[in-house]
Amino acid sequence: MKLTAFWRRISRNRKKTTNKKNSAPEIIRRDEHAVSRKEMSEYALKVLYRLKKAKYDGFLVGGGVRDLLLGLHPKDFDVATNATPEQVRKLFGNCRLIGRRFRLAHVHFGREIIEVATFRASHDQAANKDSGDALSKDGMILRDNVYGTLEDDAWRRDFTINALYYNIYDFSIVDYTGGLKDIEKKIIRMIGDVDERLQEDPVRMLRAVRFAAKLNFKIEDSLSKSIKKNIHLLDGVPAARLFEEVLKLFLHGHALASYELLKEYDLLKHLFAQTADSLDEYGDRFISQALINTDLRIQQKKPIAPAFLYAALLWPAVKQLSKNLKNEDLSLLQVYQITGQEVLEKQLKQILIPKRFGIPMREIWTMQARLSVRKGKRPLKLLPHPRFRASYDFLLLREQSGETQLTELCDWWTKIQDVDEEAQLKMCKNIPSFGKKGKAKKKKPHF
Ligand code: ATP
Ligand code: MG
Repeated sequence: MKLTAFWRRISRNRKKTTNKKNSAPEIIRRDEHAVSRKEMSEYALKVLYRLKKAKYDGFLVGGGVRDLLLGLHPKDFDVATNATPEQVRKLFGNCRLIGRRFRLAHVHFGREIIEVATFRASHDQAANKDSGDALSKDGMILRDNVYGTLEDDAWRRDFTINALYYNIYDFSIVDYTGGLKDIEKKIIRMIGDVDERLQEDPVRMLRAVRFAAKLNFKIEDSLSKSIKKNIHLLDGVPAARLFEEVLKLFLHGHALASYELLKEYDLLKHLFAQTADSLDEYGDRFISQALINTDLRIQQKKPIAPAFLYAALLWPAVKQLSKNLKNEDLSLLQVYQITGQEVLEKQLKQILIPKRFGIPMREIWTMQARLSVRKGKRPLKLLPHPRFRASYDFLLLREQSGETQLTELCDWWTKIQDVDEEAQLKMCKNIPSFGKKGKAKKKKPHF
């Protein structure tokens, strides 16, 4: 992304913003910026216009405004309003209220969902108004449902670049926290006291990394220091919440950059402890290659299976553990069954991977053993297996990452998919043999 895209979009000498609460916001009028409704989702606009018609405030906020300013296509469009979730529900038939910790209205248009959030006050204002505990003893936000003004809402958002509002009444952009200046400088800056904001919600560390990776922005120094200082707080985040956050890091076209930053900040350990502990040169190359391929597939608009991604991120740990079983009298299949189960079980304590992904992950691992046995007609039974394609891709990835002993096997599997049944049968009969006089020697599993 080029900064020029931003300059084209903001055409005036902007005033200095004060970055302080209770100060007037900077307002960029319609004729002073080039963020156009043409680039917005028609459904987000529908929501905004209906809020306006009902005399509620309506703003586009977050990634929608940030990405349009940067000339990017927003992933989704979020709306902020002074209407309560119940009032929003009354306006839209296709609306569902979700969330306990953070109550939101989801307005459904086919597969597209527009998230509508009521202006929130910060957690200290919440604590004053709320009789119950809004914070945990570690300062983590448990509930965040005290409504406030537009200004309150801006100051309780995470980063300045995410707190820009597009006003549906006059099409201006409203900036309370200095987000425009930070977009221009390519900086991820936390709003408010960095330590406090990370304590309130440690997931913001991962969000900082995600936006830095996605936008190629720099994490501002005090935020960077605070991440290092508060990194342990991530261990207190519910494992279920981390599952989605990890997907956001890796499934939106900036997986490799996210991975590099996670390593740089030592965050990998707090998401994938087993991977971090067993990461050698091969493992690092394997994950990097998997993520390069993931980014490429996203660019080509091809689907990515979360199971494949998680299987790849944990493969160095499966490999490492398998080496420990080297001297046991086990087949390769048994080894991968045992290690796969153990690695997954341990991983679930950090990130709650749903069963519908956990099962195919283990299949991808055990298929690595199945693909290495080419006796009789077995290979022909594997070809139609629902996990064959992913497992074959996984095998290629291993070879690409330095397991050169797999080259012949990879070529064989590549070829057998391309020939007719007769040729396939022939290929199964003519498996390259090992040992003397063409007799296949009992091979020791290769780890
Ligand atoms: P993208 O959708 O492109 O990933 P986004 O900035 O829109 O990025 P969302 O997760 O969709 O991110 O959240 C929308 C907005 O809600 C953010 O821009 C931010 O203002 C606010 N927000 C989301 N999560 C948090 C959080 N944990 N703490 C504070 N504010 C948050
Ligand atoms: Mg968003």
